[in-house]
Amino acid sequence: MTAPATKLIHHPYSPPEGFAAPQPGIFKASTIIFPSVAAMRTRDWRHKSGYTYGLHGTPTTFTLEERIASLEGGLQCVLVPSGLAAIANVALALLKSGDEVLIPDNAYGPSKALAEGELAGFGITHQFYDPMSPADLSARINERTKLIWLEAAGSVTMEFPDLLGQVRIARERGVICALDNTWGAGLAFNAFDLDGKGLGVDISVHALTKYPSGGGDVLMGSVTTRDEGLHVKIKLTHMRLGFGVGANDAEAILRALPSMSLRYRAQDQAARTLAHWCAEQPQFARVLHPALSQAPGHSHWKEVCGAADASAGIFSVIVDERFTSAQVDHFCDALKLFKIGFSWGGAVSLVMPYALGEMRSKPQAHLARGFVVRFCVGLEAATDLREDLAQALKAALSA
Ligand SMILES: *Cc1c(COP(=O)(O)O)cnc(C)c1O
Repeated sequence: MTAPATKLIHHPYSPPEGFAAPQPGIFKASTIIFPSVAAMRTRDWRHKSGYTYGLHGTPTTFTLEERIASLEGGLQCVLVPSGLAAIANVALALLKSGDEVLIPDNAYGPSKALAEGELAGFGITHQFYDPMSPADLSARINERTKLIWLEAAGSVTMEFPDLLGQVRIARERGVICALDNTWGAGLAFNAFDLDGKGLGVDISVHALTKYPSGGGDVLMGSVTTRDEGLHVKIKLTHMRLGFGVGANDAEAILRALPSMSLRYRAQDQAARTLAHWCAEQPQFARVLHPALSQAPGHSHWKEVCGAADASAGIFSVIVDERFTSAQVDHFCDALKLFKIGFSWGGAVSLVMPYALGEMRSKPQAHLARGFVVRFCVGLEAATDLREDLAQALKAALSA
């Protein structure tokens, strides 16, 4: 019973006496009543040795934390109100004035904005490194570097980095590394054991908003670790910031977890089918999907995700440079099943155009020309999605 699909269903949970329903219940609280003052004094929220206050956990959130930790191959997990809050919780727990954080240039945009905004204001500096060059990452590490962010695949442009090489560099230089594992979701690879010999990241953050929720209706994030000391640091910051989550939201994710590996696989397969089809369309200069052989970082994807043969159901295309921004917008507007919206991992397919010039601090050769359109594949039939793409191409980007 080691496959995620099984683990996410048959997982420890203590239902109320005589009520062994398949799904865990919703327990809501701010106040938790102690049987005595002595009990209040001995309970320690840090180690889950009992319930103390709603913000520090309820049976519902403890169950979700255990399942996410187990999904990701970690030992401890902290839930926060969004994926971005998970990124902020890690940064605020580990960085202080005078420290520096290294962030891949293709990181999730708001994560870069946090470094440029609040972190800079606190006297915490940052550098954006080339995600495709371990040498560039290595060269930027200095005595002030206290945290390295990793992301695989990169946001929007989907480059898959040399994750093993990057983690080795962090280990050798003694810097904590944290992965934004939303794309892999705990299913494409084990972030804490990338090579089967225990080489892994220190921290995995996950926007549960995406695949674990699966509905496009819940915002939540998680911070998973394997080191108790690191976990306590993150948990202390979590408590001081008041980053609790609502029980109804936690239950919505618990309800969606048992179907997550099936959804991930289905969306992966549909996305690959559509990505291959897009690669044949003359209007698209390039398809950015790490499982496609010509994509940037494909060999690294194979090294880390090859065993599971897994990829998130998300990919981008670079529209041929002869088409204008207005034509690309018209193409997105002409799609009927792909809706215009942010986020991903839900049942509804989504599309979003991007102007890369505004997103990367350093120019990349493969992104030099053309507009990028990102597709997030939902659970509709792939044949219907392909027809939708075909009709919108015809309407807006005639070859
Ligand atoms: C969506 C996303 C986040 C942020 O999650 P929210 O819950 O929307 O804040 C962080 N990282 C990645 C890679 C994401 O896709």
